[in-house]
Order: sequence, then structure tokens, then C-alpha cells
Amino acid sequence: MAGIYIHIPFCKQRCLYCAFYSSTLHSRQQEYCDALCRELEMRRNYIIGIVDTVYFGGGTPSTLTRGQLQMILDTIKRNYTLSPSAEITIEANPDDLTPEYLTTLRSLSFNRLSMGIQSFDDTQLKALGRRHTAERARQAVEDARVAGFNNISIDLMFALPSSTHAQWQESIQQAISLHPTHISAYNLTYEEETPLYRALQQGKINAIDEDENLKQFETLIDTLSAAGYRHYEISNFALPGYESRHNSSYWHDIPYLGCGASAHSYNGKERSWNVADIELYIRGIETGNPDFEIEHLSENERYNDAIVTRLRTADGLPLEWFRHKFNKKLYDYLCRNIAPHIADGTLQESNGCASLTHEGIFISDSIMRDLIYIE
Ligand code: SF4
Repeated sequence: MAGIYIHIPFCKQRCLYCAFYSSTLHSRQQEYCDALCRELEMRRNYIIGIVDTVYFGGGTPSTLTRGQLQMILDTIKRNYTLSPSAEITIEANPDDLTPEYLTTLRSLSFNRLSMGIQSFDDTQLKALGRRHTAERARQAVEDARVAGFNNISIDLMFALPSSTHAQWQESIQQAISLHPTHISAYNLTYEEETPLYRALQQGKINAIDEDENLKQFETLIDTLSAAGYRHYEISNFALPGYESRHNSSYWHDIPYLGCGASAHSYNGKERSWNVADIELYIRGIETGNPDFEIEHLSENERYNDAIVTRLRTADGLPLEWFRHKFNKKLYDYLCRNIAPHIADGTLQESNGCASLTHEGIFISDSIMRDLIYIE
């Protein structure tokens, strides 16, 4: 099994907190899609076997037209063996999701919709530079269901500037009331060189304190768990059977091909990433000299990658898998460094896996640092 990630680096407007690469200049969108299709053809042998997941991420893939989406999906179907039950996801801004566009997406075989909603408070949405309102988001979820989407994911953000606990609880309740199958919730971070970071530096906004930040995360976990969502990865919650298959493949060492500017690929031995520049990306593909970097992963690097990705999941670290996959020195190192965390109750061992306990989730970064191997 393998996955394909398609990166669409166009946004109608830049959100104030965003440090991802994307452009608001849409004039080259068609050329970009042509280049994407060319890359999909050129790299058809990168992954072997059946493609079980396709994920259109961004940026904002919902800025693409029907023709552009169809061209990319047709290229995938022509060049790869797509499973009949493949999970095909598109990320979307609620503002783009008219009933007509949703019907189009469904007819193109997208069967999972991931909506960047972030908050159900219009003042907060404005402060983040989001272009949709809370009402627009609610309507888009309802319209998506009418269009035939029964697998809908919602993205939320917590620890927003000056946010109160009550506001955050309200956003979670609003999300639950829409009955999405999946909720991703991310802690807002103030990335350097973003307008939000500058506003913080200039004292125009206030970050919430660490205690409130932890309380918001705890409320998220408790409330969604009580509503029947499984906390299957630090930032991800799903109703039973609706865990994101594509994202899960990143956490379980499954190869994936990433096409488009700044997209990453992994084949079990190497990691590569395309240039994060639309112009350079198009030129590289058009001239037959794709602009990308590649990193051959040493055994230590693959071990560290496995720790960072798998520790975040509810399944945790499968100890037998680590024993088979890595040399004795790394396996012994892992066992030695897990032990104190089992003893202090931040990790637990069951069914041959070591996973974060409720307490451990809140200090996962420091546990990760303890388990990572640095020569
Ligand atoms: S829509 Fe997404 S990628 Fe685009 S600016 Fe906003 S957060 Fe960044």
C-alpha cells in the first residue's frame, strides 16, 4: 500500500498565523496543474503497489476548478493502481464550498473532506485573517452532507490570542454539534515572520499563559472523548472507523509520493522534497530537471523518525517491530529510556506497545527527546 500527496500552494488570502509556503497569485495555477500532472507521470515508478490514499493538501486545494481537479485525478488513475476503496481527501476552505462545488467534488470521486474552520467565533476568525465566518462554516458542513460527503473532518485551533476557556469550550461544542467524523485540533504557534508573530512582539495581541493553554488542550481531550471521538493521535480525534488513513500512513512507515512545490516524499529509505517555489517548480518540471533535494536516511535517522511519528499515536511504539527493524544498540537504547517513563506513569506498556498515558500526552515533546538517539 502507498499514498499520494498533491500539494496545491495557492490561497485566496494569507492567514495571519501561517508560515506554510503558499501564494495568492493565481495566474500560474493552470501551468502549475500541468506541471503537477507531468510530475505524476515522471515519477510513476517511485511507489510500488496499490495506492490506498490520495490527499490534496495546501495551500487551499478548493481554489482549483473542476477541470484542474479532474485532470490531476485522471492522471493519477492512468499512471497508478488506485484501490477501488481508496480514501481520497481534499482540504477546503468553507468559503469555497458552494453546493455546486461540493457536488462537483463528490462527482470527481473525492470521498473525504477536510475543512479548515479553526474557530466558531467570528471575532477570532477575523483576528486570524480567515476569510470565512462561523455561519459560513456551519452551512458548508451541512451542504457537504447533502452533496453526499459522509466523511467530514474539521480543523480547529486552540490557545488563540486572549482566548477564554469559555470561548474554546463553545468552539468545541459547536464542532461536535455538526457531527463531523473527524476533528483535528492544533495549538496555535507564533511562527517568526508571520504577521501574528509581529503583532505579538509589538504588544498588539496577548498570548494566553501556559496554564490556560494546557487547560484548553485537556478540555479538548475530555470533551471529545466524552462525545465518542477516539484520541488516536496527539492532534487528531475520530469516530470509530474514521481515522485518517492517509495521515496514519505517515505515522506507520508507509511509503508516499508527494507531488507539487514543497511536497515531501518517502520510500522507506530516502526522503525527498520539492523546491518551495512555484516558478522554480514549474520550470524544473518543464525542462525535465525537477528541482528537489534528497536525503538518504541512516538507520539512526529512520529510528528517530519512527519515534517522533509513532509516539504521537495512541498505538504507540510497537516494541517487537523496533527489535526487528533496528540494530540491537538502538533497541536496547529504546528499552533503557522507556523504563523510567513507565515507572513514572508517563508511558504505559500493553500488547507489546509503549504508548503515552494521559499524563504523558502533556509532556510528549520531552519524552520524545529522551527516546531519540543522538550520537
Ligand atoms: S489557507 Fe491554510 S495554507 Fe493558506 S494561508 Fe491560511 S493557513 Fe496558510
